[in-house]
Amino acid sequence: MTPVITTEYDGCGKCLVGVRRLSRKTDATSSPERQLDQVVAAVAAIGGHIIAWADDWEVSGATDPLTRPALGPWLRGELGPYAGIAGAAVDRIGRNQRDVLNTGYMIKDSGRLMVSHGHDGPWDLDDPTDEMRFSMEAFGAQMELRAIQKRNRDAALKSRADGRPRGKTSYGYRYVRLYTGGKVDRVEIDPVAAEIIRDARRRADQRLARLAYLRVEWWQARCRAPLRHPGFTAAAVGMSPGPACGQATSRPTPLGMSAASAADPRGGTAPPT
Ligand SMILES: [Zn+2]
Repeated sequence: MTPVITTEYDGCGKCLVGVRRLSRKTDATSSPERQLDQVVAAVAAIGGHIIAWADDWEVSGATDPLTRPALGPWLRGELGPYAGIAGAAVDRIGRNQRDVLNTGYMIKDSGRLMVSHGHDGPWDLDDPTDEMRFSMEAFGAQMELRAIQKRNRDAALKSRADGRPRGKTSYGYRYVRLYTGGKVDRVEIDPVAAEIIRDARRRADQRLARLAYLRVEWWQARCRAPLRHPGFTAAAVGMSPGPACGQATSRPTPLGMSAASAADPRGGTAPPT
């Protein structure tokens, strides 16, 4: 995101926090740049200035503003003094009518300002007309949320019924299209991502095998009871052999893989006892 110049809090009474929000799939018309322009215009219109930005990207309108990563701490009073918030529209506060009303009245009760683009001056919730308009906009935001949710649900059902993939593949897989921009023909393993996952698995296996080996080692030292499978040696788990475990492994083990997982096609890591 483009860095946006802010000015210091100076107690002038119009030191505002710019509020922007964008959810994942929807709100294509509310691009960050567009919201930026609208917030800057709304703040300039009341002669205020922006001291910070509370940008919540990938945050659904259904989220309670108090719990939003960027806006939440401001509303909870954890980020220092500010005179109010400024957003592109009421629906940038949220799309849950109850949350929007709660937030609006919380800001009013704390003596702060609420500014939005397209509304002349700060909102005055003591004024019956403004109060009505604010609840109407909160209501409209919620109507839109329900419509968005229904569209997403319907689209998901339709894709499922048509057997078409929707959204991104799981990590490690990729879509195959027969020609550029064409429909997805099938899903296959992505060799690059798959190798990263296999490597992570190998490392995890190796680590578990070493821990198991140390445990067996400790047990044998304490109880003098042979517990170890002949193949389960220090070399097999990638450790230098100690004095108590000088036997060489009889089975060659691939680099980075424990004897246990090499022997067990299911990739088990527990040492055979
Ligand atoms: Zn100021």
